[in-house]
Amino acid sequence: MRYLSTRGRAPVLDFEGATLTGLANDGGLYLPEEWPQFSAAEIRDMRGLPYPELAARIMAPFVGDSLTEQELLDLCQQAYGNFSHVAVTPLVQLDGQHWLLELFHGPTLAFKDVALQLLGLLFETFLARRDNPLTIIGATSGDTGSAAIHAVAGRRNVEIFMLHPEGRVSEIQRRQMTTVSAPNVHNIAIDGGSFDDAQAMVKRMFADSALTETLNIGAVNSINWARLMAQVVYYFAAALQLGAPDRKLAFSVPTGNFGDVFAGYVAAQMGLPIERLIVATNKNDILARAIRDGDYSVGESHATITPSMDIQVSSNFERLLFEANGRDAAALGAQMDGFGSSKALTLDPRQREGIAALFSAERATPGQTLKAMRWAYESCGEVIDPHTAVGLHAARSERLDPAVPVVTLATAHPAKFPDAVEQAIGQSAPLPARTGDLFSLEERFEALPADYDTVRDHIAARAAR
Ligand SMILES: *Cc1c(COP(=O)(O)O)cnc(C)c1O
Repeated sequence: MRYLSTRGRAPVLDFEGATLTGLANDGGLYLPEEWPQFSAAEIRDMRGLPYPELAARIMAPFVGDSLTEQELLDLCQQAYGNFSHVAVTPLVQLDGQHWLLELFHGPTLAFKDVALQLLGLLFETFLARRDNPLTIIGATSGDTGSAAIHAVAGRRNVEIFMLHPEGRVSEIQRRQMTTVSAPNVHNIAIDGGSFDDAQAMVKRMFADSALTETLNIGAVNSINWARLMAQVVYYFAAALQLGAPDRKLAFSVPTGNFGDVFAGYVAAQMGLPIERLIVATNKNDILARAIRDGDYSVGESHATITPSMDIQVSSNFERLLFEANGRDAAALGAQMDGFGSSKALTLDPRQREGIAALFSAERATPGQTLKAMRWAYESCGEVIDPHTAVGLHAARSERLDPAVPVVTLATAHPAKFPDAVEQAIGQSAPLPARTGDLFSLEERFEALPADYDTVRDHIAARAAR
């Protein structure tokens, strides 16, 4: 399979190249040249497959010649063997129409593990073929940092440096990063800085020739195609259990960077009968405005009880804009250049129509989020996290044919967000036994001042060579 940039001016790559590159060098995002198709008979044939086998079957056409079938299956077995539930992403029924797809049974209790556990293995496999070890540098305000650290901890040819603003991430999130003892994991707490300061330093490092000329620097954010590819699998897993390909269904997806819900779009292109994809947002509703009104303009950023969705610019939305304009890279490049300078973009009629055919959007206020958590608890005995609750609120607000099952993606374990859970239902969710010693393990991190040269020199001295 060949991979092209949405802006059309970057080299065409194979799967291995697209995985190691992340962002295309023309500022665009990589997408496969065409969508692999599964017939109804082929989808029917996937029923009952164990998750790792289903994953290998769905990802094989995307991986192409970069891995043999056996190598891909081995990696899937290794990645999904780290999950605490044998079904990997179990489906839980709420009522006659609504279901939860639990994506939080990985090591850091958020859905990002599903993709990152595999990505860590893909990095290790591909890097072993090259004599060029990778230094991953990132900044985190929470979930991504811990999932990325757990994905590459102890892997060969990779060092990871994760910056977090000291005192600005929750204690659970910090401990999930700092208690990992593998020597290739380097946590850096930026003293007196915000997340934006840490993020700005990372961006500056990617553009700093003193670093990039001597090091092979990589990123693990959700613009990486391999992450989206791995997320396509659980849409199939859920749909197969609910009767696909012989029955349509809908998904509601708590959305931030538009990675997770774009994977649902990919599943639909591959032949899964998806009736609707509901983009669920909190008060940071740029996506809801774009999908409903064609207005993709950056507003003020609000802090909410769903911090992993407090995002203004959803990087992966560019992929959908590209698809919806008939894959016209030149037109999209011009549209994105305009967005870069004015922070606003108006969808053209073709894009609006194409997107409206599959997507709708719903917004949840904090009150509606807490109410959805109470409904799940009081009516179904399920304790859910606030991000999942934004999705559930959206799912229940959307007027769909009652015969169409609606699956809400449960993106985090409720124990990760104890304050919101306590506020909603008056009790907290215990951490699962597998993270039980988080509070007794020793923490390891370096506290550095918010000074660019100090942080860069610290990383350069310890980077992969
Ligand atoms: C990252 C995250 C999201 C948003 O996912 P995107 O792929 O960025 O849209 C939602 N919920 C939780 C708990 C997350 O960690």
